[in-house]
Amino acid sequence: MAKYSNQKNGLIEQEIAEAAQEIKNGNIVLFPTETVYGIGANALNEKAVKKIFEAKGRASDNPLIVHVSNIEMVKNIVKEINNIEKKLIEKFWPGPLTIIFNRKSEKIIPNVVTANLNTVGIRMPSNKIAKELIEKAGVPIAAPSANVSGKPSGTKVEDIIEELQNKVAYILDGGSSDIGLESTVIKVENNKINILRPGKITKEELEEVVKNVQIDEHVLGKVEKNEAVSSPGMKYRHYAPNTKCIMVYSKSKEKMINKINELTNKTTKEGKKVLVLGRKSNLEKYISSQKWNEGETLNEIAKNIFTLLRKVDKENVDLVIIEGVGEEALGLAITNRLIRACEYNYIII
Ligand code: AMP
Ligand code: MG
Repeated sequence: MAKYSNQKNGLIEQEIAEAAQEIKNGNIVLFPTETVYGIGANALNEKAVKKIFEAKGRASDNPLIVHVSNIEMVKNIVKEINNIEKKLIEKFWPGPLTIIFNRKSEKIIPNVVTANLNTVGIRMPSNKIAKELIEKAGVPIAAPSANVSGKPSGTKVEDIIEELQNKVAYILDGGSSDIGLESTVIKVENNKINILRPGKITKEELEEVVKNVQIDEHVLGKVEKNEAVSSPGMKYRHYAPNTKCIMVYSKSKEKMINKINELTNKTTKEGKKVLVLGRKSNLEKYISSQKWNEGETLNEIAKNIFTLLRKVDKENVDLVIIEGVGEEALGLAITNRLIRACEYNYIII
């Protein structure tokens, strides 16, 4: 069983140091970041990184993001940092942006981290505990989201302690994640930015650095079997509860609410139970007897959504109908997670 430290009353230096020692010893640690919780290991230690894949049941062709606390760590790992990447680093680091670089050599970052790709995803987290953990460990930390593969990412320790406490050496509890969705993953190619996974840093914000920002076709599109993708994580079932879910979205609020009520009506008539997840201000308009508040703003919805998705399986309902949020700004990242949670079962009208 992991050693557990509750950081809610401020940083406990001693405990971060103990967790850092576990990283140095080649063990894995559950720690907070501003996006979601991570399960981390020394990124330079192949054996340690393998423990992460075992703990999560993660496919070995799904690469991990390497977390750093200073730019020297990046220089040690990557071939070069081009001008656009430099600007992105200046503007968004520390923060929720992962940049895919060409890696220097497999002797520094082992193949297990990059899933044999010659590129490596790197990010500098802004969360204080994460930063201190990396600094004290003195090595970059490879860390995917803290969850058993396929499940929603952990945004508070209560949500994931059961599934992970016997698999990690140390748990650093830093309360709820500020953002609640994983980082934006981008790659700079031919002076363009390609968004491989949307996140808190939006297309609109990236366009302030380079005009030409594209969204990879798989961000909202379905990945067909055996199709090559630029971000391997896109291939996998992700964020999905066991209960059947459907996302419904329309730019017209009225149309969306009517459609959700129509679906509720049809499903209830079949003798099935429905749960609706909707914006606070819309809830009273839903006819379903069970309805949950997603939050009101996009920031609130981002922060709440994984916890809600994790809870639905405990409700014993047959269908979860989830309000969509559109694709603007942070909406793109939320929609990307929701359509996967619904296993591409969605209605946009
Ligand atoms: P997670 O750690 O669960 O947030 O997942 C990390 C995401 O980053 C996955 O979707 C990966 O596909 C993506 N990623 C990490 N490294 C690379 C890389 N070298 N090239 C492309 N995508 C990457
Ligand atoms: Mg993940």
